[in-house]
Amino acid sequence: MKKLSHIQNWIFDLDNTLYRGDVDFFGQIDRKMTDFVSRYLQLQPVKARAVQKEYLAEYGTTLSGLMAVHGMDPAEFLDYVHDVDLSALAPNPALRAAIKALPGRKFIFTNGSRAHAKNIASHINLWDLFNGSFGVDDVDYIPKPQRSPYVKFCDSFDINPQTAVMFEDSLRNLKVPKEMGMATVLVTSGEDWSHEPEAARPAGTSTKADWVDYITDDLPSWLVDYK
Ligand SMILES: [Mg+2]
Repeated sequence: MKKLSHIQNWIFDLDNTLYRGDVDFFGQIDRKMTDFVSRYLQLQPVKARAVQKEYLAEYGTTLSGLMAVHGMDPAEFLDYVHDVDLSALAPNPALRAAIKALPGRKFIFTNGSRAHAKNIASHINLWDLFNGSFGVDDVDYIPKPQRSPYVKFCDSFDINPQTAVMFEDSLRNLKVPKEMGMATVLVTSGEDWSHEPEAARPAGTSTKADWVDYITDDLPSWLVDYK
């Protein structure tokens, strides 16, 4: 039995949340990050990948680490890593219907760029359903799971966290929302993410934590049945 009748604001992460984590799509972005780090820091790909994942674990995103440690300008990085082939991503009519039927406002909040959110959500035929969207370029490039981007997000859209629910595939990105008073939903998939740093990997079917209210591996069905 879910207790969500008070929810007026539905906040969705983008990557591996609004499309399934077991679709082979995010891997492209991941590989482009490795290419970028390799070129930018003049490292062999294996070493570049280690640095990429170290920054992901330590700073929230690879981008954030590159900015903090190397003073990198974020724009070129974001444009490069989000320039990907979208053909593996198909619209999900069941997800569209389920989000459309939700009462209240709906938002996207991603650690990717603002343009990436629009590009992907448009491609999978969801973009018009959202009342607002934030990328990491809307929050001074300070990513989730740090606290300040969530506060800025809620302030910008005049969201009372007590009336909000957040959907995420990243366990650590739900901790601050829970502390702020939001309900939290972890979206999992059967994908094996064990190659990712433990602190930063997307949730698997056995992931759990006391700041997660609900777990689902089938977001459309969960949204239809949420009451
Ligand atoms: Mg995600």
